[in-house]
Amino acid sequence: MSDVVVVGGGLAGLAAAVALAGDGAKVTLLERRPAIGGRAYSYEHPALGEVVDSQHVVLGCCTNLLGLMQQAGASDLVRWYDELMFLEPGGRRSVMKPSGLPAPMHQALSFLQAPMLGLKDKAGIAAGLLRFLRGYPADDTESFASWLKRTGQTERAIRHFWEPVVVGALNDGFEQCSVKYAGKVFHESFLKSQEGGRLGVPAVPLTEFFTPVAELAEQLGVTVKLKCGVDGLEQRDGRWVIRTADGEQLTDAVVLATDFRQTQRLIAGLGGEVGIEFEQFVTAPITTVHLWYDRDVTEMDHAVLLDTRIQWVFAKTRIRRWETGRGSYLELVISASRAELGMGREEILASALQELELFFPKVREAKLLKSGVLKEARATFSVTPGLDAYRPTQLTEWPSLYLAGDWTATEWPSTMEGAVRSGRLAAGAMVGDVARFMAAETPAGGWMRWISR
Ligand SMILES: Cc1cc2nc3c(=O)[nH]c(=O)nc-3n(C[C@H](O)[C@H](O)[C@H](O)COP(=O)(O)OP(=O)(O)OC[C@H]3O[C@@H](n4cnc5c(N)ncnc54)[C@H](O)[C@@H]3O)c2cc1C
Repeated sequence: MSDVVVVGGGLAGLAAAVALAGDGAKVTLLERRPAIGGRAYSYEHPALGEVVDSQHVVLGCCTNLLGLMQQAGASDLVRWYDELMFLEPGGRRSVMKPSGLPAPMHQALSFLQAPMLGLKDKAGIAAGLLRFLRGYPADDTESFASWLKRTGQTERAIRHFWEPVVVGALNDGFEQCSVKYAGKVFHESFLKSQEGGRLGVPAVPLTEFFTPVAELAEQLGVTVKLKCGVDGLEQRDGRWVIRTADGEQLTDAVVLATDFRQTQRLIAGLGGEVGIEFEQFVTAPITTVHLWYDRDVTEMDHAVLLDTRIQWVFAKTRIRRWETGRGSYLELVISASRAELGMGREEILASALQELELFFPKVREAKLLKSGVLKEARATFSVTPGLDAYRPTQLTEWPSLYLAGDWTATEWPSTMEGAVRSGRLAAGAMVGDVARFMAAETPAGGWMRWISR
């Protein structure tokens, strides 16, 4: 097997590097930032003196990401939850959790008991979910907004069920999400099996979470070069020349595991017809608010907040099992936060604190020791209706040049799982066997063994 340079040390690049090095290739991974992980990263915030990240979660159906973590011996860094708590202002709780019933009925009891929804809302949701029972549409041209209208969903069902799940998982409004990917979320996480819908939360900051994967890559012989941005590449005598500030590196094959903007920049330098309509991709922001209190303010590890700008609250002190007496650290997540991009830190903080008090009255008595607001302007790309036609496969028209990155064709939205899949698919394309490095999908459970396509 030949020399390979992987450009980009996000999850796509790491997954490609691990797969190829494990298969015998001599791999160099070039990352322009000082740490691996790409968008899934944490860092020490200079003003706060705390290691911060934007909360990422995984689902049981993320089999490639979880497989990579297992390969790296880091599965125990994921904390698993079977329950999902929905909170209304005032504190009323609805819990979605599995009972002993077989899939797809495993969440039915808690759904029927959920006070956040009325009978009519539940009937509409149940009828809607039935449409995703066997699977989800292969065609991605219809928007979820159109589907909600077409299936006659009530206003409260939208606010209290469809919106928190879809906006939380796909990070954009209904017009900007196709039914295909929304349906995938519901099929995989609510219907297909109990295991596929389990919620996993990293129990350590993200860079620490993914360090074992980088260590695995190095154990397999990958040379990882940080602070080593690639400025350009070109073909020369049947090989590739990679240009960095340190000079040139010759290689037989390249995986560009960069986000779509960087990929566009790098392949534009190759000249000729590129064949990818990059302008079809739009990105959406995520804003997170980080709060350190002098005491515990909730006994929950996490919850979905309804009828607010904040969609999720994570009690990181509890998730990370900090010893009691250290106060508490909460992170509030605002998905698809375009409005917040134009707002100042103080304004975002004031609004978030006001909202938080509606759900957790203890916050009023607690002392806020410090706070931070992180804005990730281009957190994810949106699975806009029709985008599949523009997502390139990992094979390119240039010999021995492959693409990876969550935005390439993976059949997944912008997620860590999508990124790992893309890296493994690129590695598979290089060895001429696309399926070689892919993990098996979560098996259907209960009655879904006969129902799911
Ligand atoms: C705030 C936030 C919350 C999120 N929440 C979740 C979640 O809950 N669950 C989930 O599954 N996903 C979540 N995501 C999405 C997830 O982080 C991404 O889908 C995934 O990390 C993308 O990985 P990637 O490798 O495709 O791209 P990236 O992570 O963007 O990696 C690309 C890498 O390439 C490097 N690079 C770029 N140009 C060059 C160059 N010229 N030379 C060398 N290196 C270069 C970059 O520095 C970067 O490290 C979230 C993202 C954000 C930002």
